[in-house]
Amino acid sequence: MKEHFTMLTDPRFCLSNGVTQRFGMGPMPKTVRLNREGFAVDAGIKKKTLVYPYMHLATHPAPGKGDLFSPIYGVVTDITERSVFVDAVEPDEELKKLGASVEKLDLLSREERGEELVPVLKGLGVNTKSLGQKCETLIVNCLNPDPGVTWAEPMLLSHTKTFALGMEMLRRLSPAKRIVLAIPSNMKFRHRDVDIARVPYHYPASVNALVIKSVTGKEKPEGVGIVGIHNVWSLGRVALTGYPLVETVITIGSLIHNGNYIVRDGSTIGELIDFANIELQPGDTVVRGGPLRGESLDKLDRSITKGASGLFIVESGTIPPMEGHSPCVACGSCSAICPARLRPDMLSRYAEFGLHDRCYDEYITSCLECGLCGYVCIARRPVLQYIRLAKEKLGLKLLKTAGVYAERVRQGE
Ligand code: SF4
Ligand code: SF4
Repeated sequence: MKEHFTMLTDPRFCLSNGVTQRFGMGPMPKTVRLNREGFAVDAGIKKKTLVYPYMHLATHPAPGKGDLFSPIYGVVTDITERSVFVDAVEPDEELKKLGASVEKLDLLSREERGEELVPVLKGLGVNTKSLGQKCETLIVNCLNPDPGVTWAEPMLLSHTKTFALGMEMLRRLSPAKRIVLAIPSNMKFRHRDVDIARVPYHYPASVNALVIKSVTGKEKPEGVGIVGIHNVWSLGRVALTGYPLVETVITIGSLIHNGNYIVRDGSTIGELIDFANIELQPGDTVVRGGPLRGESLDKLDRSITKGASGLFIVESGTIPPMEGHSPCVACGSCSAICPARLRPDMLSRYAEFGLHDRCYDEYITSCLECGLCGYVCIARRPVLQYIRLAKEKLGLKLLKTAGVYAERVRQGE
């Protein structure tokens, strides 16, 4: 990976913003759309079921994937393959009684550690896949993931109790012998019994693979894992409240607004934009996630799920829009900026014409999905989107091949 990036001095790519205000609470949603892809919905949950905060709704078969809970008092209005829809209702006495009957779990007084703790956290809605990864050294990536996202510094410096509890739970969960906090090199911070590594703080330095390189000096070193500070916040949140995780922290940003909020799982984009007093204009683009790595949305009824980093409005005219079929003019800018030393021009062309195997030969799996190639593209090609599409197609192909292989093994061939 490259040591230096041409954008290191561009202030728009600075990931250390000096923001330390505590998070505000987001709106109480009128409607939520909960992602249930891969989850088995509980037997009693169907259309018209009344639900209350922290009520268990669905379970995922993966041990490291947290269960799904209702974030509000409401009524289930629809259940599809991908989502559970809930409309808020004013609870009657009976529903209030059910809401009040949810018991707090005192996580800190429990004995479980390591793998024994995984099902407990799963039952509290926490995803533990990256938190419990097997490694000797675990790095906590404490940088804001994308330019414009500003929650990492207050997560570390202002919500100190949640962070300390998150770290306590991480020590109990992780098999790592050493935990290292990777923080921006210009930040003053100490945390007891934890090593600190100071790393560059201009994008793309926050991308996990580049943080690992900065901390260890090596690309893909053995025995090193990495987890985001957002995941540590989730651990701290359930340890602090004693209730299942039904919230996430996001930055809501536009030209006139930037704030960090604790928002309920499944809050819709439209309600959050209204809450932030942002008036959408024709031609504005709504992005879920960070401005460089996020996905643009065409419908305001889409929602924020646990782990989302932000919601951004890219105002019309501020950045030229992507052109789906715009041809590459071979300017070379994307290859010059790519921190993974790839040829994004070739990757996007192969993907465009369905030549996914050639993408594989061009090391598409080494792409860090930083989004810089699309940002610098003067032809405004959706380079990252093409790359993600090719990765998805290759992944499906591998799964299919593995399925055929498994079937042959099963049949004793
Ligand atoms: S997103 Fe583009 S610039 Fe970033 S690593 Fe992948 S190919 Fe390279
Ligand atoms: S930046 Fe865009 S136009 Fe230039 S080589 Fe890359 S894909 Fe082609």
